[in-house]
Amino acid sequence: MYEKILITGGAGFIGSFLTERLLDCGREVVVLDDFSTGKRENLASVEKNEKLQIFTGDVTTDTALLDKLVSEVDAVIHLAAAVGVELVVDDPVRTISTNVRGSENVFFAASKHHKRLIAASTSEVYGKSEADFFCETDDLHLGSPYNSRWSYACSKLLDEFLLMALCRNAALQGTVVRFFNTVGPRQTGRYGMVLPRFVRAALDGKALRVYGDGEQTRCFCHVRDTVAALMLLLENEKSFGKIYNIGSMELVKIGDLAQKVIAICKSNSAIEKISYDQAYTAGFEDMRHRRPDTTAIRDLTGWKPQYDLTQIIEDIRAYMSRSEKIV
Ligand code: NAD
Repeated sequence: MYEKILITGGAGFIGSFLTERLLDCGREVVVLDDFSTGKRENLASVEKNEKLQIFTGDVTTDTALLDKLVSEVDAVIHLAAAVGVELVVDDPVRTISTNVRGSENVFFAASKHHKRLIAASTSEVYGKSEADFFCETDDLHLGSPYNSRWSYACSKLLDEFLLMALCRNAALQGTVVRFFNTVGPRQTGRYGMVLPRFVRAALDGKALRVYGDGEQTRCFCHVRDTVAALMLLLENEKSFGKIYNIGSMELVKIGDLAQKVIAICKSNSAIEKISYDQAYTAGFEDMRHRRPDTTAIRDLTGWKPQYDLTQIIEDIRAYMSRSEKIV
């Protein structure tokens, strides 16, 4: 069992839930975060826990600190990244630098010190696929470099290739996890995440802005289910050198999601449709459908999501209702 775990991006949305869960299980946790999109408040419930250490640092530049921290733990879970469609479209250089150079630094440190490593990738790597279910062994089809939207997928895919190569060539005990839309309390809507944006708007009585025709579909997985999957994979040696989809298979159209949020929040908000060009930049391309095939992780660990969409929205509503400042 891995007793001491470094989480890069541990003050972020997924990272903070993972930190809490590991501490609950009696493990030691070291968080390295530059607090760009993460927040100290995310760790408020555990900040006094003596098994938690928090370091401020950037995985792209603070290589000496990173190397020292990796050398002192048993396992590394790499979540630090530039995340969110708006952030990616607004600042592709930062996205590529964080997700390529930062990941390279983390992977090489884990490899050098022979540490177990799990690295977060994304369903975005499935790009323009039109398959009903996306499977880890599928061929991938990304858009042109003229469209900066694809820089996130491309940078994460490069991480995957590097990690797979290090597993083969340097015997790194690494696993890639491709998260599909992970949602829950603490997720911010500031960088374009749809559910927190919708719930905030519904609670404030403002219009819910649906991009495109609203017919595009997504599956939403509760962050606690995502963390449960990470806990199972962490200890499973059969996951070394493998890639796993982590996500819900409950498909919902974004237009229907907006209506469901309004109903659960008992809101009078309207739904306003706006074009992708208005929401982002001219020529923005979105995926129509995105549903994971989760057979691989289910067969390996028995994992399946426990929270349905109604419970997820209830949880976010309850969290956001506590403060009108939460966005
Ligand atoms: P998040 O923005 O809340 O977490 C990312 C964390 O990394 C933040 O705490 C941020 O401050 C930190 N960070 C960013 N750049 C850093 C740097 N250079 N050095 C150190 N720390 C840095 O986002 P999240 O949703 O918790 O995402 C966690 C991981 O999961 C990311 O790798 C993301 O790409 C991946 N992912 C998330 C989703 C999702 O739906 N939430 C979907 C697919 C993939």
